[in-house]
Amino acid sequence: MRMSRLFLRTLRDDPAGADIASHRLLLRAGCIRQVASGVYAWLPIGQRVLAKVAQIVREEMDAAGAQEMTMPIVQPRELWEQTKRDVDYGPLMFRLEDRKQARYNLSPTAEEVITTIVAGELESYRDLPMNLYQINWKYRDELRPRFGLLRAREFLMKDAYSFHIDVDDLKRTYQDMYDAYSRVFTRCALTFRPVEGEAGEIGGDTNHEFMAMAAVGEDDVVWCQKCDYAANAEVARRKSETVDGKADAPAREKVHTPDMPGITAVAEHLGVPAGELLKCIAFDLDGEVGLALVPGDRDVNPAALAQAVAPKRARLLADDDFAAHPHVVKGYIGPDAESVALVIADPMVSAPHGWVTGANEIDHHVRSAVLGRDFEVGEWADLVAVVPGDPCPRCGSPLSIDRGIEVGQVFELGTKYSEALGALYTDEAGAQHPMVMGCYGIGISRIITAVVEEHHDEQGIAWPAELAPYDVHLVVIPGKGDEASEVIKTADELYDALANAGVDVLYDDRDASPGVKFADADLLGVPVRLTVGAKGLKRDVVERKLRKTGEESELQITDDLLTVSAEELRTAVL
Ligand code: ATP
Ligand code: MG
Repeated sequence: MRMSRLFLRTLRDDPAGADIASHRLLLRAGCIRQVASGVYAWLPIGQRVLAKVAQIVREEMDAAGAQEMTMPIVQPRELWEQTKRDVDYGPLMFRLEDRKQARYNLSPTAEEVITTIVAGELESYRDLPMNLYQINWKYRDELRPRFGLLRAREFLMKDAYSFHIDVDDLKRTYQDMYDAYSRVFTRCALTFRPVEGEAGEIGGDTNHEFMAMAAVGEDDVVWCQKCDYAANAEVARRKSETVDGKADAPAREKVHTPDMPGITAVAEHLGVPAGELLKCIAFDLDGEVGLALVPGDRDVNPAALAQAVAPKRARLLADDDFAAHPHVVKGYIGPDAESVALVIADPMVSAPHGWVTGANEIDHHVRSAVLGRDFEVGEWADLVAVVPGDPCPRCGSPLSIDRGIEVGQVFELGTKYSEALGALYTDEAGAQHPMVMGCYGIGISRIITAVVEEHHDEQGIAWPAELAPYDVHLVVIPGKGDEASEVIKTADELYDALANAGVDVLYDDRDASPGVKFADADLLGVPVRLTVGAKGLKRDVVERKLRKTGEESELQITDDLLTVSAEELRTAVL
């Protein structure tokens, strides 16, 4: 491609509103342009990268035995009502009506559609397993679209769905997809970690998220320094046990703590560390009040609490709720508050200890509250949010926490969708069963954010070879001397020779200064830069520079380089 003809305008300065390096660089390098909040146009350079990521995913899906198809982006809302996910997705779903007021939505994902299609096509155990995928645009009206392609409202996803006679068969495909995902992210040159994930609205049991490790990631990844335990912080747990035994503490004593509704102020006032306090978090439990207890220096992990009380739903009390429950005194809640339906505590609270805690009375706390003497716990559950250094639930070694970008997720779904939508198969004996399903997503456009976050420097992007929009960035510097036309002629010949050898070349044939050309080459990030200039040609050489390492070398450009075999030319240049 000749840059003089390319639809590309690079930006020298950082665009306003782009908060992370990848967003800035993708805009500056002319890969994408924002059209609406979280909605982007893909310009030719960006389009080539997107196509390359999609192709890697396609190759690995095909190799894993999945078959490509395409489903519509417009989906009938009825299908979502049948699985009740219409409600679960809530405002995240882009909803629309046609001229007859029939209700539709834009595809945020496609379990309902694929399950309905499969229900109509497959009926026997002989037809299974079946694994189907598409690469298609998805729409989610995200609360906070941000960081460019990282959290967009329109984004490209690969979504695959597998159908099985039983869980064992599902597990085989699940493992194949897990392995295929590892190959995809390795080919994309990402540093990644598969971690135990949260199921969210999708439901189901086992699932793993593939996290590209990056400081800008929106997820916390908990991982063990010793064994292979790794989990999204939402589902991560620490090794914990309840301990028996009563604290040998003096009698409970009320203390005056005026205007001190927070842990820190009380701890300071009483001169004790925050961990000596007992934190009592009040929540609504389907209309009743529950209390979650953790040590004062720890936080409750909301996802852990939700899991502990499921299928009931926990919601932290708001000011209105406190008004409705006067015995639960905001800022001064004790574990023995009246009319509480459930007291649930983390095992850390079982340590024999005289706790400082709320007195259920404004401006008052108590000292030496003892479990089994002054208050009771109804249920024990892992509730605390894991912090670095906590013991690994598998091996007890210290845990670490780093940020990650979720680039993919694999789920064992079970029969939730097949039961709701009638995807049944007949077994050998003639009996009918719901198909057992798995589903598998990859954020193709989001991968590009993760790749640029990992592969860039001050000057611009440094694309990994497999994703680069071009293989070679050919720069011609004709100079002002008599030899200018000869230099251009050589560069043109090299461009043709490389093209014939099957090398994708971006040829900077523009009438621009060397400074501008080199700055653009660094910004665009094609892995190999070749420079044809008057100085080099005097010695019959072309300069070769690698974008990633800055390593420079020279290629002899005697008549040979232009006449060697395509294979030899490729090897010399790439
Ligand atoms: P998140 O937790 O980040 O909102 P999710 O778990 O809801 O994502 P999935 O339903 O698992 O997303 O979708 C599959 C993949 O699609 C994700 O792993 C992610 O890579 C990608 N993805 C999801 N939402 C977005 C988005 N708003 N913008 C870009 N990619 C997205
Ligand atoms: Mg997910």
